[in-house]
Amino acid sequence: MSHSQPTESQHPPRSTRVAIVGAGPIGLELAVALRRQGIDFEVFDAGSVGNTISWWAPQTRWFSSNERIAIAGVPLLTADQSKATREHYLTYLRSVATQFEIHVHTHCPVVNIARADDEEIGTQGGGRFAVTTKPGARPSVWSADAVVLAIGGTDFPKKLGIPGEDLPHVDGYLRETHRYFGRNVLIVGGRNSAIEAALRLHHAGANVSLSYRGAQLPEDHIKYWLLPEIKGLLAAGRIGDFVGTTPVQILSESVQLESIQDGTQVEVKADDVLSLIGYEQDKTLMRMAGVELTESMQRPSYDETTMETNVPGIYIAGTATAGTQSSKYKTFLENCHDHVDKIVAHLSGQQVDSAPQQYRQQILSQPES
Ligand SMILES: Cc1cc2nc3c(=O)[nH]c(=O)nc-3n(C[C@H](O)[C@H](O)[C@H](O)COP(=O)(O)OP(=O)(O)OC[C@H]3O[C@@H](n4cnc5c(N)ncnc54)[C@H](O)[C@@H]3O)c2cc1C
Repeated sequence: MSHSQPTESQHPPRSTRVAIVGAGPIGLELAVALRRQGIDFEVFDAGSVGNTISWWAPQTRWFSSNERIAIAGVPLLTADQSKATREHYLTYLRSVATQFEIHVHTHCPVVNIARADDEEIGTQGGGRFAVTTKPGARPSVWSADAVVLAIGGTDFPKKLGIPGEDLPHVDGYLRETHRYFGRNVLIVGGRNSAIEAALRLHHAGANVSLSYRGAQLPEDHIKYWLLPEIKGLLAAGRIGDFVGTTPVQILSESVQLESIQDGTQVEVKADDVLSLIGYEQDKTLMRMAGVELTESMQRPSYDETTMETNVPGIYIAGTATAGTQSSKYKTFLENCHDHVDKIVAHLSGQQVDSAPQQYRQQILSQPES
């Protein structure tokens, strides 16, 4: 007798009441809340649990305080009371999933969502939706009564739109800092990710330059503990100061920068170019599911009291609600926890509070991080 388990792609069509797309913090918090209400669900993620956080550079710290990014009422504690790092937080997410026995279909992207009566797709499960996943080469179809899109908004790094951007030394992600030791690194951007990268790489022994398209750094968008140091290092010339420039062309060993004031150009040496100017949301799944996107920002439209989109039975949660956040980021994990309560209340017909009240009070009494 064979003891081998059927693989994801070999299963016949299966059904669930709620399909959660995305096992980031909000997808997991929702899964726990549904478990507490006895509502059947399945969770799918295109990558691993906490996939978005897993691509942050090692040892990157959250800007938010731990109380605000804790989920499901489970305290997030660090040994030295500091803000959690990527590593702390991924460990925490695994612990929460383990504690509440949340099985996540990892590396299992959802590639389509259709009405179950769509003849081309069809499911035999009796639910309203056919959710197609593609864990390997062969698609697999799930039947679900409701679908929650907790898919985040950071699918692709934003593009600069200049020649040379596709060269191999140009990257939209900060990697392990050690690899930049002794190299000339040009960082493009002026908000938290770019400033934090500039500081970390400077301290890791890279020769860092910073290009930002505004006349001055956008101080309101930079965390208060990063600002004095970056200003000091720029003023001292220890980080190359190219504030007030935009890159116009990337070459194999340098970048051509243009002054926003007088159009003069300067060539800056760069073995690596980090373009840290933000991220874009992938709208494909929302379009397939028939979710309306508002014209200006291409944000999904939804009812703020229930989180249900214009497609009855399809909900949206977490940072996915904000679409592509282009200027100041306003929607973070911090201010998305109530999405979970609203969805569970709508599905169960009961008021719920995903975090124990005492813990929620503690969160609310914290000053803004
Ligand atoms: C460097 C950096 C620092 C940050 N610091 C903070 C901070 O301090 N505080 C804060 O609140 N926020 C911060 N953020 C934003 C943070 O990433 C989000 O707040 C948090 O991850 C949002 O959680 P979420 O569950 O809404 O979405 P995400 O964590 O983005 O999760 C979405 C999940 O959906 C999955 N997914 C997407 N499409 C599919 C698909 N088709 N099929 C299956 N799965 C899919 C993804 O793989 C991902 O795991 C930071 C972001 C970055 C990049």
